[in-house]
Amino acid sequence: MKNLAILGSTGSIGVSALEIVAAYPDRYRVLSLTAGSNLTRLEEQIRRFRPLLVAVVDPADAATLRQRLGTEAPEILCGVEGMIACASLSGVDMVLSAIVGAAGLVPTMAAIEAGKDIALANKETLVTAGPLVMEAVARKGVSLYPVDSEHSAIFQSLEGHRRSDVRRLILTASGGPFRNHSLAQLKGVTPGDALNHPNWSMGRKISIDSATMMNKGLEVIEARWLFDLPAERIAVHIHPQSIVHSMVEYLDGSVIAQLGIPDMKTPIAYALSYPERLPLNLPPLDLCSLGSLTFETPDPARFACLSLAYEALREGGSAPAVLNAANEVAVEAFLNGQIAFLDIPVIIRATLDSHPGEPLSHIDGYLRADRQARQSARRIIAAAH
Ligand code: NAD
Ligand code: MG
Repeated sequence: MKNLAILGSTGSIGVSALEIVAAYPDRYRVLSLTAGSNLTRLEEQIRRFRPLLVAVVDPADAATLRQRLGTEAPEILCGVEGMIACASLSGVDMVLSAIVGAAGLVPTMAAIEAGKDIALANKETLVTAGPLVMEAVARKGVSLYPVDSEHSAIFQSLEGHRRSDVRRLILTASGGPFRNHSLAQLKGVTPGDALNHPNWSMGRKISIDSATMMNKGLEVIEARWLFDLPAERIAVHIHPQSIVHSMVEYLDGSVIAQLGIPDMKTPIAYALSYPERLPLNLPPLDLCSLGSLTFETPDPARFACLSLAYEALREGGSAPAVLNAANEVAVEAFLNGQIAFLDIPVIIRATLDSHPGEPLSHIDGYLRADRQARQSARRIIAAAH
């Protein structure tokens, strides 16, 4: 029996993870749940999975939940302190980190410091503070399993091979809903268009990141820290069918890939059950009916966010945290109708320019860089709109 904490339980990843837990009640027990929104769904999850501890962001939500659950209410905390308590709860073996955005960093670090194994969906944790997180993982001797499908594919493609034999990693990207849009067409796209991903059903923020290809940029940074390879040895190929989830190229020219239908249950289950594989009730991959798998080079002129991410990674220090924070603010502004789609990279560029990368060693430094970059990005948006 593995005892789980699920951070971000009401989101796209959290819900898929709980479907796996529900299918394997003899293997997994949920000890704590956290959510930022969607109280109705959280209430259902509490009734169904009976966690000992729950945390929500807003104290008013905690009060509502206690009232709705009455005598069935577990202990319900709120705020970052509540998230930390859920992540570090005694008896928890593994924490699924599936909060969206840099808000995932502090609870995930708390889980590592408490000695919990981590199933990591929240890529922003590694983007913001990769060196710090990996240092803590090594120091505490915990296991960090990737949930992001590309990183799960690489993790699987590295199994049984020597790290010293790796030449490069090749991350695949679907190209998102605007893969074939011209710059002129990209000017007028709406949040509704951008949220309409061709292959994956995901939360709002990552769906916009997928449309700008910042998602792939964040994943390059995530891969840099997870697999300890420099940016020059991490390539991106556009692969519109999302069947080859990523690849590892070895020194002898061999390329090992992991394939499957695009469903996050596969990488979530592998992170939860490693080294075993759980039977999942998914349609099989039918390559013959697919017919062809295609690959293209990403266009930096139309998808500037990808180059910005490489640039921030090369600069290092606080730069990836600044990139990530500016992106979160810009995506929110785009979703609220304040800015246009093509303003997103412009705002990130301007924010990076106003924050030269500085070396960081402590979590407070990363959190400060994140906070200051958010303020700058908001100022830049307010000044221009
Ligand atoms: P989502 O928006 O569907 O869910 C996010 C969860 O976090 C929700 O439970 C939400 O209530 C909670 N949350 C939001 N803000 C919070 C805050 N400030 N404090 C605490 N909790 C908060 O997002 P998602 O699509 O499930 O993605 C979660 C993470 O997994 C992201 O980092 C994303 O990049 C990554 N990821 C998602 C997918 C996918 O298919 N959805 C694939 C790969 C990686
Ligand atoms: Mg991914």
